[in-house]
Parts: sequence; structure tokens; C-alpha cells
Amino acid sequence: MYRNISLEDKDIEALINLERNRQEEHIELIASENYVSEQVLKAAGSCLTNKYGEGYPGKRYYGGCQYVDEIEKLAQERICKLFNMKYANVQPYSGSVANAAVYMSLLEPGDKVLGLDLNSGGHLTHGYKISFSGKFYESYAYSVNEEGFLDYDQILSIAKVVKPKMIICGYSAYSQIVEFDKFRKIADEVGAYLFADISHISGLIIAGLHPSPAEYADVVMTTTHKTLRGTRGAVILTNNEELFKKINRSVFPGYQGGPLFHQIAAKAVSFYEALQPQFIDYQKQVLLNSKTFCQTFINKGARVISGLTKNHLFLLDVKTSYGLTGKQAEDILKQMNITVNKNSIPNDTENPMVTSGIRLGAPAMTSRGFTEDEFIILANLIDKALREPQNENLHNVIKKEVAKLTNSFPIKKTYLS
Ligand SMILES: *Cc1c(COP(=O)(O)O)cnc(C)c1O
Repeated sequence: MYRNISLEDKDIEALINLERNRQEEHIELIASENYVSEQVLKAAGSCLTNKYGEGYPGKRYYGGCQYVDEIEKLAQERICKLFNMKYANVQPYSGSVANAAVYMSLLEPGDKVLGLDLNSGGHLTHGYKISFSGKFYESYAYSVNEEGFLDYDQILSIAKVVKPKMIICGYSAYSQIVEFDKFRKIADEVGAYLFADISHISGLIIAGLHPSPAEYADVVMTTTHKTLRGTRGAVILTNNEELFKKINRSVFPGYQGGPLFHQIAAKAVSFYEALQPQFIDYQKQVLLNSKTFCQTFINKGARVISGLTKNHLFLLDVKTSYGLTGKQAEDILKQMNITVNKNSIPNDTENPMVTSGIRLGAPAMTSRGFTEDEFIILANLIDKALREPQNENLHNVIKKEVAKLTNSFPIKKTYLS
């Protein structure tokens, strides 16, 4: 369990502790969330937040950087080792800012990009019109097919017509394997850069449970707070020295100012954890749990987009399965302390604030020690609740079952013992 904190500012103290309790008492199924160790929390809450150091190790615009230089270099070395890649920028404040910096490194404003559309599981920053990526670049989209799978022949034909300067692969809500080798061939055929955004699956890739883009993509980006189980933020990796120089200039001074050294140190601590054998065991359990969770819904006759998952998440079509919208399903489960997010599904007829699906992910509860047994219990509870959305007695019973589970599996302080 995380500690309660005490502050002179009682307003914020109370709210932080309420949020701490919420995290302990809720079953967290948001696929992009996880629980960091207390080690990571300590580094993120350290005095490093005081330090300015625009620039890069050895080349700063400020004095007094001898220790933060070493911290940043360790973070770089560790993440390069985890992905077996040559160069890393560990300064991005978030995945979205990192993506903006990648665009700036590879493209000129107005250049064409090709990414997966949002309804198919893509990310806002992959060319969506309300994001920088769709406003400042000419963006085109490929989609998944009727069954919810990427169709590489179709992507190639679209790429031949569009002639993008950059193709983006790697997604927020796609439960199947991304074949980076096939994307490389497509990119080569049309003369495009290949950018792999592995924010969601980076932990699985480190553990060898999903193919790696390291030898195929020109640039790789991952957030550090999803399956990687670190602090919030991102890293950008490449094997190309020229591109690395451009990436460094795009992060600073292109998009960012001073690096957040407390976050860089916390990233380094999470990379240290990811280098230990326990991390591979964790990822294996994530995959087992996700598949078992998904299979239990399929056994109950629910519709899962693209069938059995091959990674840490899947999309449940709650419209077809239970006659509910994604928003209704999210709200019902919230009453029972089960946290999920509504999510658009391929060919969704509802708007993005309503949707027809929910996204379910195994990383967070696996960090608390859930195994296949608990995920089977959980799938049964969710299925029952959604089949009888009005049955308050049933919902009260389920809420008690949830409390039993969260009490038996408190958030862990460390993942290394
Ligand atoms: C989460 C995510 C991002 C953005 O990360 P933020 O830190 O929320 O900005 C970018 N790309 C993909 C594929 C993601 O899943």
C-alpha cells in the first residue's frame, strides 16, 4: 500500500489521500495505467525538481549539472539496453510532446503522414484533425478491416496513393500483433520514414513477448508509464546518428524547455526495475492474465473486437454484447469500484464521448498480484453487472466482491523482492 502523506497544505493533503484511497479500493482496468513502485515515487518526489539544465549531458546552459548529467546518462544507457538500440532522448514530458518532436525531426510542416484512424485504435497524435498532427501536417489514415485486423496489403495500396513522408505504426487500442517488418517493407516501397509508437506495448517488447521495432523503425517512441510501469513521460530512440541529432534539437529547444530531472531520475529507476528478471515474469503474467480475461468474456458469448487478444488489452463491444453504450458500461462499473474507459470500436456509430465499447487492460491489476484465477472471477463479475444494469442488489453484492479482491491484493511497495 502507498503511504498516506502529510502536508502543511491540508486541502491538497486531503485530496491526495482521497486519491490514494481510490487507487487502493478500485480495480484498475484502464490499459494505459499502472502502479509505480515506491522507489520510483521517491525519485519523482526528490529535490531534483529544483534543478534547471537546458541542453544535454556535458552541454548545458546552466551550471551545477554534474549530478543530473550522470542521472540523465544512466537513464539513456538503461533504456538503450532494454531495447537494444543506440541512441535515446529521455527528456520528453509526455508521449504527445515526444510525438510532436518526432514529427518535427522527420518532416516539414504540411508534409504527408499516414497513421491508423482513431476509431480503429490509433492515437490523437497520429494525424487526428484536432491534434497538432492533423493541423500542421497533411494527415491520412488507414483502418482495421471488418474483423478488426490490420490489413497490410490494404495499407500498402493506401500508401502508394498517398505517398506519405512518414508512416506511423503502434497504437492505443489494438489487441493484435504489430508486424513491424511488414511496415518496413511498405515504408521502403513508398520511400517513407517508419515511426513506431510503442507506448502501450513497450513492456511486452522488452520481455520478448511482442516483436520489436528496433531493427525496422527509423524512430521509436514509448511512454514510460504504461506497461513499462515507470513515471509519467516518454523516451525517443533511434539507431541513426543523424536522426538522433535532429531529435535532440526538436525536443530542446524545439518543443521543450528545461528537462524534468526528478522525472528523468524516476524513469531511470523504473528502467533499472525493467532490467531485472522479475520484470519479464511480470510481463508474462500480464499476457496470461489478459488472454484469460478475454477468453472468459468470449466464453460467455460477449463480442470482443478481433477475437482473443495477443497483448495486454482488448476491446469489448458492449453495444452488441449487452445493449449498452460504452459510457453507460463505464458508469455502471464505476459504481462497483471497477475502473474502465469507454472506447470507440471499428465502425462505431456512437460519438467519441459515448462509444459502443470499453477497453480492458491487465497491466495494473497484474502489478497487484492478480493471476488468471482473479481475472476469471473479475470477468464473471463484470459480465453479470452489465447483463443486469438495473439490478442494484446485485451491484451491491459485486461491490463487496471487489472490496475483497482489492483488500487481498494491496498495491505493492516494491517489485524486486
Ligand atoms: C498514451 C499514448 C500516447 C500519449 O502519451 P501521453 O503521455 O498521454 O501524451 C501516444 N501514443 C500512443 C500510442 C499512446 O497510447
